[in-house]
Amino acid sequence: MMKRIARISLLLLLVAGLWLALKPTLGNRRLTFLPQHWSEYLDYMDFWLNLFAFAILGLTVWFALGSLQKVLQRLFLMIASITLLNLLLEGLQSSIPGRAMDQADVWAGLLGCVLGICSGLAMQLFTVRKKVGASPQVLFLDQTGRLGGAELMLLDIAAARAADSEVALFQDGEFRTALEKAQVKTHVFKLAEEASSVDKQAGLRCVLRTVPAIVDLTLQIARAARAFDVVYANTAKSLIIGGPAARLAGRPLIFHLHDIIADGHFSSLNQKALIFCANYCARKVIANSEATKDAFIACGGRAELCVVVPNGFHIPEERTPSPKTAALRASLGIPSAAWTILMAGRLSHWKGQHVLLEALKTVPNAHAVLLGDALFTEEDRIYAQRLHSQADEPGLAGRIHFAGFQSDTMPYFDMADVVVHASVFPEPFGRVIVEGMLAGKPVIASRAGGAAEIIQHEHTGLLVDPGSAADLASALLRLQRDSGFASTIALQAQHTAQDTYAISAVQEKIESAIRQTAGSKKSQLLSPAIPLPKPPPCAA
Ligand code: UDP
Repeated sequence: MMKRIARISLLLLLVAGLWLALKPTLGNRRLTFLPQHWSEYLDYMDFWLNLFAFAILGLTVWFALGSLQKVLQRLFLMIASITLLNLLLEGLQSSIPGRAMDQADVWAGLLGCVLGICSGLAMQLFTVRKKVGASPQVLFLDQTGRLGGAELMLLDIAAARAADSEVALFQDGEFRTALEKAQVKTHVFKLAEEASSVDKQAGLRCVLRTVPAIVDLTLQIARAARAFDVVYANTAKSLIIGGPAARLAGRPLIFHLHDIIADGHFSSLNQKALIFCANYCARKVIANSEATKDAFIACGGRAELCVVVPNGFHIPEERTPSPKTAALRASLGIPSAAWTILMAGRLSHWKGQHVLLEALKTVPNAHAVLLGDALFTEEDRIYAQRLHSQADEPGLAGRIHFAGFQSDTMPYFDMADVVVHASVFPEPFGRVIVEGMLAGKPVIASRAGGAAEIIQHEHTGLLVDPGSAADLASALLRLQRDSGFASTIALQAQHTAQDTYAISAVQEKIESAIRQTAGSKKSQLLSPAIPLPKPPPCAA
């Protein structure tokens, strides 16, 4: 692909060069003191000398400026300064008797400079040597440095194949620390501030402002990707950058879909961009639930790319001893006789912590622990502040305990009497639900998305209407009053979770997807010339 672009660009440059070279001399000689054919020949040569001299200058400066950091800035700086030099030289020539500033030569210098830069870029891209190993070499991409559910899943996948994998992050943070602790080679390719602040709801203006930073990062990732067999985009933003980068580098791409692509989660522009990138660039889409797969297809995603692989979990042999859980409750200020509800996950409006707080007003003797923090957006930070104010309302004061983000969550699940998930929009998967089940706790979850696939109502947990505080309150009261029923569903849930979500089985499925993708033929990539089937309207 890159080679074809280079060949076409070269051809266009040559045609433009010839046209520019011949045009000013037609019937309008510059070196009048020479015989006509000599004068024309020199004019013609002058153009090509300029073109190649500036191509060499462009190439040399490109390499002299060092690594590929800030590609676009370097590109614009070079073109501007070399063109200025070119104009200066042409200006000086005009002081020679019989010579004038020649527009064609200025163009030749500019074209030569661009040609030199493109050759430098292509040489940097195509001279990267491929890594070799027992398994396919995978470059994982993730946009964030924070530890959300998608990152925790990637941590397990990358750690299991650390010898044959590297992770590229677009932001630094505790995720990098966790990866390095697991011996996974990690690089941070920083995405400029304006681009990393674009969220899932971003509109056109916001996206356009980020284009230079995105192009810059795409070129850096393309270069890095050349050393690997497969590129694996773990998040939406990493697909937008990793998709074109993988195509540019000629490497197959897997997209791990951890999100429900629909209104409420993504703006319509972002939905279109994601579907386009997945359809055009991905060889496989790993959806974390049937719900995420269905939403992807409903938005126009290609069904034949999809495979559903749920999240996997390490099943600990030992749980937290009771003296430790008692100490934890005390440290949070929970009275020893209080019925304790745990809600784990980042503080974000769609996660529905406010619904639990509202429900709690009608549940006596109950305390709630909110485990997690506002991780990603400014909106989440404002929401977290509102939750603190809501927690001070009459009837709730002293009963809500904010535990913040904790990397070791097991003691929190073990100290709880019940685990609540209350997302107001469909949850793509819902790791906290499985973690509650594995801890042997009764779980209440919102009846939508992946949560409704994990829990069988009244058998392995209770499902309630999303966003309904009244429904949640009655489910809580039912478990509080009927401890026998609570223990029965908790035990059934624990067995189901152990059988269904063991990390080893999930890792095997991911590895098989990686091997298939690494071995698959190039022609399986959808050619842009083949028209896409008309997508049905996006799910609301
Ligand atoms: N989590 C954590 N520390 C916290 C709160 C949550 O490690 O303080 C973990 C939680 O145990 C779960 C993940 O973050 O594994 C959240 O995943 P989930 O699928 O529930 O939500 P997501 O963040 O993917 O939307």
